[in-house]
Amino acid sequence: MPRPTSGTTSTFSNSDFITLNARIVTCKKCPRLISHCSEVAGTKRRAWLDWDYWGKPVPSFGDPLARLLILGLAPGVHGANRTGRMFTGDRSGDFLFRSLHRAGFASRPDSIHAQDGLELRDAWITASAHCAPPDNKPSPAELRACRPFLERELDLLAKVQVVVTLGRIAFDTYLSILKSRGAIERVSDFRFGHGVLFDELQPALLGCYHPSQQNTSTGKLTQEMLDEVFALAAKFIRSGPGPSAPRQSSQPSPPSRKR
Ligand code: SF4
Repeated sequence: MPRPTSGTTSTFSNSDFITLNARIVTCKKCPRLISHCSEVAGTKRRAWLDWDYWGKPVPSFGDPLARLLILGLAPGVHGANRTGRMFTGDRSGDFLFRSLHRAGFASRPDSIHAQDGLELRDAWITASAHCAPPDNKPSPAELRACRPFLERELDLLAKVQVVVTLGRIAFDTYLSILKSRGAIERVSDFRFGHGVLFDELQPALLGCYHPSQQNTSTGKLTQEMLDEVFALAAKFIRSGPGPSAPRQSSQPSPPSRKR
């Protein structure tokens, strides 16, 4: 079976996205996270012993002309850190993609591995930190170190109309960029809440609980609640100017498959 590729062979037509993802997957700015990703890739989880884990920073993926931007926290340690694609190979991803599929932003309702044929339509997925952190908790310094990648994406993704932030950290990360750019005065003027839409911002900002196993297993976030968020995002986007039909996505590199 094929081994993971380098991650720099993206099929994006836009060379800026290829360059950005290449910079992400080769980044080593956070020694703690690089070491954690690599260590987990060596030890593995019992269920995935026959996998070559990706084990390094995970690139973003989706439609470069997306009107929906989804900002998560960080790759799942046995999900994206294993498969090399955001929200792929774990329950969080399945939860997210079921809702994205229902709202017309994903070609299939699950996300199994990087070569499963899944395509995003009119949507782009990225993260506040591109490396899987211990206990799912990147430090403030690690979030700051990774922020320039997100800032660059925001510059490149010129068509975005709605930013859905998954969880409070992603919400604050995004607002901190807006503040540093002078687009808002204070981060504290915006209160995170599930389904809360700030349409006075451009792009609009839509808060959403993170589909972590902790949130979904306790019922803090149900599938219906997630469906509602992406239905609202779709309604907002498709009632505005621009194409109403979903577009085909570009895929990132096909990084990892089961051996
Ligand atoms: S979290 Fe971001 S900045 Fe830190 S090593 Fe990973 S890719 Fe680089």
